[in-house]
Amino acid sequence: MHDERRTTPRTDRVLAEPSLREAASRLGGPLVKEAVVAALARCRAGEVAPCDVTSVALSILPDFATQLHRVVNATGVIVHTNLGRAPLSAAAVDALSVAAGATDVELDLTTGRRGRRGRSALAALSAAVPHAGGVHLVNNGAAALALVTVALAAGGRNIVVARGEMVEIGDGFRIPELLESVGGTLREVGTTNRVRASDYANAVDEDTAFVLKVHPSNFVVTGFTSTVSISELSSLPVPVVADIGSGLLAPHPRLPEEPSAAACLRAGAALVTASGDKLLGGPQCGLLLGREDLVESLRRHPFARALRVDKLTLAALEATLTGPPPPVAVALSSSREELMGRAEGISAELSGTVDASAVASSAAVGGGGAPGVEIPSAAVALPAELAEGLRVGEPPVVGHVERGRLLLDLIAVAPGDDAAVVDAVRRAAKALRD
Ligand SMILES: *Cc1c(COP(=O)(O)O)cnc(C)c1O
Repeated sequence: MHDERRTTPRTDRVLAEPSLREAASRLGGPLVKEAVVAALARCRAGEVAPCDVTSVALSILPDFATQLHRVVNATGVIVHTNLGRAPLSAAAVDALSVAAGATDVELDLTTGRRGRRGRSALAALSAAVPHAGGVHLVNNGAAALALVTVALAAGGRNIVVARGEMVEIGDGFRIPELLESVGGTLREVGTTNRVRASDYANAVDEDTAFVLKVHPSNFVVTGFTSTVSISELSSLPVPVVADIGSGLLAPHPRLPEEPSAAACLRAGAALVTASGDKLLGGPQCGLLLGREDLVESLRRHPFARALRVDKLTLAALEATLTGPPPPVAVALSSSREELMGRAEGISAELSGTVDASAVASSAAVGGGGAPGVEIPSAAVALPAELAEGLRVGEPPVVGHVERGRLLLDLIAVAPGDDAAVVDAVRRAAKALRD
C-alpha cells in the first residue's frame, strides 16, 4: 500500500520554509498555517506534488491580513453602501499610514503640551465651509444626530419635525427611532405630503429644543406636496438643525436639488449634520457645523466622548478636504463621452474572447444622496452568465444585470482599473468555458 505520509511533507517542515516564515511575519502565523494545511490536504489527495506544497501554500495566501477584498465597483452606483460607501483618495490612504503610528494628533510639538485633538482636520473643515462658526466631528451621521439630541433636547424638551421627514435611511435605520432611543421627544407636524410654516409655528413652544429638517435622502415625493424652507423656519425662536445626510459641503452643479452645508447655513440653519463617507468622499464620520456656541456645547457634552473619531479618520478626512478631488468627486464630474471611450476600449480588448459592447447607461449617486437623479454614464455590456464569476474573481468585479445583460458601469471604476477589468472578464469567461 502506498504510504502517503512518506510523500506528504510534515506541517512543521513546511512552516519552517523561509518563504513561509517571511509570510508569517507579515500576515501572522494562523493565516499561513491555514494555507499550509489546505495545500497539504491537496497533496494528500494527489492534486499537488509534495515538492509544490510550499508554492501552492504561498499562492493561496491572501495579500493582506484581512478577509476584506478590494472590489471593483462597476455597479453604476457611485456611493455604494454595501461596498463601503466612498472609496478614499490616494492622498487619504497615504495620510492613514502616517496617522497609523504614534502621531501628534493631540500634542502640540512646538510647545510640547497637549494640543486640540484633530485640529488640522477641523481647520480644513472650517476652511471648506467658511460659513460655519464652529465644527465638530463624530463617528457617523447618526452619531451627529444623537449628539445634537442628547445635548440640546434632554429632559423632555421636544424636537419639531415634519411627518414627511420621518425617514428610514436603509437596513432598518430610522431617524425618528434613533432620536427617541437617546431620549428625544418628537413633535410631528404636517402630513405625509404637506407641511406649512404655520404648522411649525403652532408646534414650537417653550419646551421646543429645536426644529429638525431631514433630507429625504433616498426617495422623492411628487404631486400635491409642500415643504417649508430653512430660511422660512429660521425666523422661529428656536434653532433649526438640518440633517443633509450626503455631506455635500458646497452646491454641486450636477446635483442642483441636493442640499449643501454652506447653503443650509446661509439659509439660517443653526446646525448642519452630515456624513463624511457619502458625497464628501471621505472616511466614515459625522460632521457637525454651525453656530459656534451650539457646536461648543456639543463638543463639551460628556456623551461626545462616546462618539469621538479616531486618528485614522481625522487624517483621512483632512486629506480628503485638502488633497486632490477624491474618487467620488472625480466620478461626479466625469462625462459620458470619456466613459464611453473607456467602455469602447475595454470592449475592443475583449473582442474575440467574449461578446462585449460599449453601451450608454445611467448611474446613480447612491448612499442616500440625490434620489432620482440619473447621471449619464457608459458601461461594458456582457453576457449575464459572467456576473458570478466576476464577483468571486480576484479582484472581484461587481456589476449589475439589466434586461438579461451584465453591465459593468465605468463611472465608479478608477481609469487605472480598466486593465484589471479586462483581465477579470477574460478569466471569468475562461472559467465559464472550462
Ligand atoms: C445617511 C444619512 C444619515 C446617517 O448617516 P450615517 O453616516 O450612515 O450614520 C442620516 N441622515 C440622512 C439624511 C442620511 O442620508
